[in-house]
Amino acid sequence: MNQFRSLTMQRAQQLQAEGAGSVKKLSQAMHDAASDENPALGAYTNFLPNENHSPMVSGNLEGFTAAIKANIAGEGWPTHCGSRLLANYCSPYDSTVVRRLRASGCGFTGVTTMDEFGMGSSCEHTTLGRVVNPWNSGCSAGGSSGGSAAAVASGLAWFALGSDTGGSVRLPAHFCGVVGLKPTYGRISRFGLVAFVSSLDTIGILARDVTDAHTVFNLLAGHDPHDSTTLACPVDSNPLMRASNLHGLRIGVPDELAEMDLDPEVSQDHHESLQRLKALGAELISLSMKSILNTVPIYTVLNCAEAASNLHRYDGAQYGVRQPGATYGESLTATRESGFGSEVKRRLLLGAHVLSAGYRQQYYLKACAARQSLIQDFTNLFGKVDMLSLPTAPCTAFPLGSFSDDPVRMHLTDILTAPASLAGLPALTIPTSLDSRGLPHSLQLIGPACGEKQLLECALVLERDLAFRQRKGGPWKTSL
Ligand code: GLN
Repeated sequence: MNQFRSLTMQRAQQLQAEGAGSVKKLSQAMHDAASDENPALGAYTNFLPNENHSPMVSGNLEGFTAAIKANIAGEGWPTHCGSRLLANYCSPYDSTVVRRLRASGCGFTGVTTMDEFGMGSSCEHTTLGRVVNPWNSGCSAGGSSGGSAAAVASGLAWFALGSDTGGSVRLPAHFCGVVGLKPTYGRISRFGLVAFVSSLDTIGILARDVTDAHTVFNLLAGHDPHDSTTLACPVDSNPLMRASNLHGLRIGVPDELAEMDLDPEVSQDHHESLQRLKALGAELISLSMKSILNTVPIYTVLNCAEAASNLHRYDGAQYGVRQPGATYGESLTATRESGFGSEVKRRLLLGAHVLSAGYRQQYYLKACAARQSLIQDFTNLFGKVDMLSLPTAPCTAFPLGSFSDDPVRMHLTDILTAPASLAGLPALTIPTSLDSRGLPHSLQLIGPACGEKQLLECALVLERDLAFRQRKGGPWKTSL
């Protein structure tokens, strides 16, 4: 009866159709196991009643349940964003993604642990909850959607939603050995996602396999009248093509990977994954893309600038926990002083600095220009290749506390995920193998705008070849 932990949604539906099991019963068993095991894992900060109140509950996710990051609104749910300042805040409405899931018959397991407002790569910058990696409880589950990734990897959610601004779906998916899909900017509505870096924020999907990720993507993608940044590009709802090879696919590999400070085991795994892609028929094309070496500084400046502007709304008067003060100004200072954690404060200070009259030209506008040249490089490159392959991060899951002496150094873990974010492109991470400590490696594929389906189809061929989920000993095979 531990089947809820290891079956994909597609397989669970097949079993149900054959009369060999009920999806709803499996979801209930999962919900019960999640509340028993969460004290050790910490993936969830809050559980939600396992019921779908929608009048229309006969969609293609009927009976399944999802885990939702704590910055995505659901009516009446705690949408605390991992922040003390929003500890008592509940959303008054459903985000578009939650509304679409409800309408397809999907229920919800709970709200997941995250870095405060999405700022971090390890889920250690949070004042609510503490999540560990289900493969090794001494290691980070990644961030900022670490709770969502840990829930999926341990089999305590069929799938999860996270947000990916600079890598926060892909990095935890990589650390926890699950599939992570960051869509094209604007492909999935952000109505009801708490704003962090508005020009980069996306809602992404963490799933047990590529097919499940595709099912959820098809349901969520598409224009939304509530979000004027959503794209009109049509969603192809046909199933993924189940090709057995990758003949005709051109995959670009940047020479600059050699100049990055990657863990040798990560480089080796990427090399082996590329050889697999080649053996499956893909053509590998070396290319140069100098601009990807600069993405961390560009990302840092834009991220802090936009965060400083977006987080201005947290003055204690409108949302969350308010600290008293003799004047509005005193109350605001006290509210932010006690409500925000140190990473948030660092970014807000840096953001105010790079936007200030004297430094705007030197930092903010320069970062905007550098971003444009990165976008141009990607545009040129997609004339020559169909997609790009990179590792997801320079390292595999690191021990908790690794960056406590130098939190800014943690920003370097974004070097391989920030490029697709800055260019607004779709990117997908799939697990490949395990490192010498028994922690997952992964491969990241980046495609042109609205090219999610092609990425998923390529990943499906690789997934079948690698058979990562069939290996012995994944956390979805055993309880904690
Ligand atoms: N690690 C990145 C950061 O700290 C990613 C954030 C994100 O995607 N939400 O900014």
